[in-house]
Amino acid sequence: MGGWGILNLRFFNNALLAKWWWKIFAGHCWSKIIHFNYLSGGPPGPLFHSPPRNKSFFWAGITPLLPAFRACTSKKILNGASTFFWFDNWLGGRAPKDIWPDLFNNCLTPWTTTRHFYQNSSILASFFHETTMEDLFPIIQSIPECSSSQEDLYIWTLERNCSFSVRSFYKFLVDGGLRTPLYPLFWKVDCPSKVTLFCWLANDNKIPSMSNLAKIGCNFQNATDTCVLCYNNSETVDHLLIHCEFASRIWAFYVNNLHLLTTPISLDQVWITWIPSLEAHRRTFWDLLTRAIFWNIWLERNNRIFNLAFLSTTAILFKTSHMLIDWCSAARDPTLHVSSDSIQSVKRSLDFLSARSADLASNSI
Ligand SMILES: [Zn+2]
Repeated sequence: MGGWGILNLRFFNNALLAKWWWKIFAGHCWSKIIHFNYLSGGPPGPLFHSPPRNKSFFWAGITPLLPAFRACTSKKILNGASTFFWFDNWLGGRAPKDIWPDLFNNCLTPWTTTRHFYQNSSILASFFHETTMEDLFPIIQSIPECSSSQEDLYIWTLERNCSFSVRSFYKFLVDGGLRTPLYPLFWKVDCPSKVTLFCWLANDNKIPSMSNLAKIGCNFQNATDTCVLCYNNSETVDHLLIHCEFASRIWAFYVNNLHLLTTPISLDQVWITWIPSLEAHRRTFWDLLTRAIFWNIWLERNNRIFNLAFLSTTAILFKTSHMLIDWCSAARDPTLHVSSDSIQSVKRSLDFLSARSADLASNSI
């Protein structure tokens, strides 16, 4: 769920149950009993939208899965007898009802099989309401030959080998086939899970910033949504971690020392466009550094709110650099080796900060 590696048991159970549909469609011997009992010997058409009532526990469990299951299948037509012309994804992986919606709405018998249309192609107009043969020309051209003696083949579109797998269907049920482009690499970076989780939530604007708390009326600790780092702006996620005067000083320090030309503009662009725009060998390093900056700004912000304790920008830079060096020395990625240019620059900047802190301390004496 959300990339945490915890199974959603309801979806996983549905994915396991869907395997029955794959077996039924594959035509195992026992599936003839299912066809006889529940489908009157024909393909499961009207079950698309109206699962039957008063059926067995097993049948009631698997019928609601049919629409999602069929959305993930396409058909290779051989005799056309088990393929619904309008509803099955047989025409270039798409269902004709989605290609010609007007003709579909005019069709008097929507649950017609492709074979039936093939055998009655000369009287095709009789299947439609007020439609000319000219209107039907694209359909006439698309009807495939259904003279084979073999049954149509089901193709599972979510796997390269075209066979059903519980894993692929589970993923489809969880995210509906849609995935954020952030997902593939975001969780594979060598940094503590709590930091990665924080950055994931921040990227989605789901952290309890003052602005977000005020929106839901939960900013009890502070009556306003003012940023506690600069007292100058509303504490939105973008402001707190990127645009705040406090955060800007931290970003500027690293950008100048590591000779980078750009800084992120908004949080939702950090991992989508900003890091990918950097040179390939620097991306993982800047990904880690970004997470370390975000995490330390967040800790400092919490420290000010809950403990009324303040650290300077220099102290945050110390913490961030040490954290980054620790992560890099434990990382498996060879581009993060401690002798790399970027890590050496961070170490030199730490020496500089130490010297400057010592100067300030002696001057104050
Ligand atoms: Zn601020």
